[in-house]
Parts: sequence; C-alpha cells; structure tokens
Amino acid sequence: MKRFFNSRSIFFGSLILCVILFYCLSQNFFLTNYHTIESIQNEKHINNLLTHINTEIQQIDKVANTFIYSGFNIATISEIGMIGLDFIVYKNIKDGTVFSRYNYNNDEIIPLIENQTPFENDLIELFKHQSYTADIYTYKNRIFYLIKKQLNPTAFIYLGKNLNNNSLQKLSEDFAQLNITHEHITQTTLKLSTRLIENIFVQTSLEARQIINNISFYNHHDEYLFSIKTINPRKFVNEGEKTIQIVNAIMGLFLAVILYIIYKTQMLYRRVLQKDKKILESKVEKRTKQLEGLLKKVKKSNEQLHYLAYSDPLTKTHNRRSFFIESEKVLKQALEDKSSVSLVMIDIDNFKQINDKYGHNIGDKVLVAFASMIKDEIGEDDIFGRLGGEEFAIVFPNTQLDDANKKVENLRKMVANLEIKLKCGHRLKFTASFGLNDNSLSHNIDEILKNADELLYSAKHSGKNLVRSRINQTALWCDLY
Ligand code: GH3
Ligand code: MG
Ligand code: MG
Repeated sequence: MKRFFNSRSIFFGSLILCVILFYCLSQNFFLTNYHTIESIQNEKHINNLLTHINTEIQQIDKVANTFIYSGFNIATISEIGMIGLDFIVYKNIKDGTVFSRYNYNNDEIIPLIENQTPFENDLIELFKHQSYTADIYTYKNRIFYLIKKQLNPTAFIYLGKNLNNNSLQKLSEDFAQLNITHEHITQTTLKLSTRLIENIFVQTSLEARQIINNISFYNHHDEYLFSIKTINPRKFVNEGEKTIQIVNAIMGLFLAVILYIIYKTQMLYRRVLQKDKKILESKVEKRTKQLEGLLKKVKKSNEQLHYLAYSDPLTKTHNRRSFFIESEKVLKQALEDKSSVSLVMIDIDNFKQINDKYGHNIGDKVLVAFASMIKDEIGEDDIFGRLGGEEFAIVFPNTQLDDANKKVENLRKMVANLEIKLKCGHRLKFTASFGLNDNSLSHNIDEILKNADELLYSAKHSGKNLVRSRINQTALWCDLY
C-alpha cells in the first residue's frame, strides 16, 4: 500500500490529472469561442442575404422610376426580362384598362401568362389601397419582389421579379445550400428586419456537423409569405476541434515534459538535501560529543575548585567557610522544622607541646589522625569542620543536647585512647577538650559558636580532656563568671 502511494505514483497521477484538466479546459474554452464566432458569422451571412434581397427590391424601384421619368408606354416595352423584371401590370382606375407584359423566358411565369387575369386581379385587389408598395408578394407558391407606383392620378404600375431557387443562389455565396421552402418556423432564434421588409424571423439549429437556418418572411399584416432554408457545414467547430486536439496534444506533451523536469529536479534537490542533512547530523553528533566531554571536564574542575575552596587540604574536612555555610543551612532548616541542633567546639589539648616535642610534621599527622577518627565516628548528616589550627567543630542536626552530650563524651574517650605510633618507637597519645551547645537560645551560628567556645574555655580551665555543656557545667566554672 505504502509502495503503491510513493512519490513517483503520486507525481504521475497528478501529471495525468493535470493533462486531462488542461485538455478539458482548453477544449471547452476554444470550442465555446468557436461556437460564438460561428454564430456571429452565421448571423452576418443572414444579414448579407437580406441586404441582397432588399437591394433586389430597390433595383425594381429604380426601374419603376425610369419608367415614370422617361414616360411610360406599355406598347414600347417588349422584352422585360432584359431589364430584370418578370412582369409589369398597368392599371388605369378611371377607365379600368389593364395592360401587362411578362418575361416569357422564365418557366415559372408561364402558368401566370396562361391565367393572367386572376393573377392581375389578385395583385390589384391586394394593393388597391396603397399608392406605393415595395414588398414581397406571393401568388400560388410563387414569390415576387414587388413595386407599385403611381404614374399619374389615375394610373398605377406594378413591377415584379420572381424569386426562385435559381435567383436565390445568385444572391449569396455564403451558404452551401440555399432553398425556398414553405415551412413555418417553430421557434424564433432571431428577429430581423430590412428597410423594406419588416418582419423576418430566423430559427437557427446547430447540429453536430451543420448549421441550418430557417428564415421566414411575413408581410405588413403579419401573414406568412415564405421561408428560405440555408445549410452550412460547421467549419469552425469541426476544423477547430481538430486544431484544438493537435494544440492540446502538443501542450499536454509540453506540460508533461515541464512537470517531469520539475519532478526530477525536486528529487535531485531532495537527495542533495538528505545528503547534506546526514553530513550535518554527523557533524552535530560529533560536536555534541565533544561538548559533552568538555562539559564533564568543566564539571570535574568545578568540583575540584569547589573542593579546594570549601575543604581543608590537610584534614580533608570542611574548612571554616564551608563549615559556616553548611551549619547555617542546618540551623535554618531546624528553625523551620522546630528541631534541635547541637554544636560542639573541639580544641586539642597542649598541641603546642606536641609540636615542640615531635616537630610540626608530627603535629600535622596528629591533626590528620584526629580528623580521620572523628569522621569515622560521626553520622552522615553531621557536619565536621576545621575552624583553624587545632580547633574543630561538629554540628549534629536533629539532635538534642543530652544525646549530643553522650556522643561527644564517647568521642572524647576515643580521642584519649587514640595512639599514634612514631618511628622512634614512641607511642603518642593526646586528649582534646569539648564545648557543647545547642540552638535552644539562639539560631545564629556565631552566637552558638561563641557560647560553645566559652564552654570549651571552661573545659580547658577545668583540667582539659573534658566535655562541657549546659547540662554538665561544674560549680568551679560557674565561679568564673
Ligand atoms: P591548650 O591546651 O590550651 O589548647 O594549649 P595549646 O598548646 O594546644 O594551645 P596553643 O594555642 O597555645 O597552641 C596551639 C598551637 O598549634 C600553636 C600552633 O603553632 C599550632 N598549630 C596551629 N596550626 C598548626 C598546624 O597546622 N600544624 C601544626 N603542626 N601545628 C599547628
Ligand atoms: Mg587552640
Ligand atoms: Mg590546644
């Protein structure tokens, strides 16, 4: 399924859709245009034909005028076909005389000649109320252009020219077929009029291969006269369709090539992009690793710096600053928790003598051994720091004074029991004094330390190697205040 809908098939699917869409749109666009052009052309052809019919009537009118101005004498008129007429009828209403001439060369006129009286009577009767007529006149399916003109107050002439299929063909070369019919139109597509004929109705049928017009003529009384049927092949649409197909095929191919080039370029671009992305990713990965390594080093050196800044290099315990920071944290927490914190200050007894007796180096070893032992004995949360020289302090969080006193007493004994073997064979022993205080009176580290220091001083004055606190203060010490 996934393979079926890969980018290639999507592309080719879209390509086919594009070409089909283009084909349909252009086909529709061009064909609509061709239809419009063809309709306009057809209407133009019809108008041309009507103009010619109008001209034919005007021609007869001119002939009638020559008769009027040159003096009409029917006796002098013999061959009327030569002057473009098919009949002339002269009528004098005063004496009722009627003269007529016919074109004997026109086959359609011959039946009229044989029955000329009914024809002439019909003609005269029909237009008796008009002194001038320029119209189309039909008689027994024969069609005539007709002009009626007044020669003098009592005489009229009727000039006619037959319109048949032969003469019709000569009027227009725009249509492939042109015939006179007597079919009424069923639907009107167009209503037209010329200067002389007012009521002309056109019905145009657009068939697949041809255009058929039925042009129906009506007289001034709206009576149907006759129709002209024209047939023309649909040149524009038929030939246009072929052209459109060729154009569409070329354009479709062109479109396909363009889209294919775009597709290929895009694929190439994507491949280059993917390659670049991989290179970039590996570079980023490498750089990240480098940065991670660097970060580790920075972290380590930070830890080292921190250690150097906050620890005592000799005894590896908190230095004075670090001890104060950590102690303050514990005291703050204790204030929030309302818990007890105990603090003891320790000073090694007669340390100067150790230094003096064994040397500064041994003094250092005593300090290290002392610190190491204390660290081993106290709890993880207890804070042990060197305040300076041979002075130390321990903070016991969550520890009440009497519990702390027991712990410190225990430490005191352990210090006193500690033995440091020297190369010379001597066994060095020493003691320490302890001043123990808690946070019951103050939460300030300086104040707590100050009191602890005073208690330590009390221990020193009471003989050293002692723990002094509020609960085990001697009377002797009390006397000092
Ligand atoms: P007391 O019992 O009253 O405390 O007497 P003490 O001798 O211990 O006290 P004192 O303050 O007189 O002497 C402390 C000595 O500790 C002085 C000093 O030279 C020594 N000292 C301080 N720091 C160091 C150190 O880092 N290493 C060594 N070896 N000695 C130190
Ligand atoms: Mg001291
Ligand atoms: Mg001392």
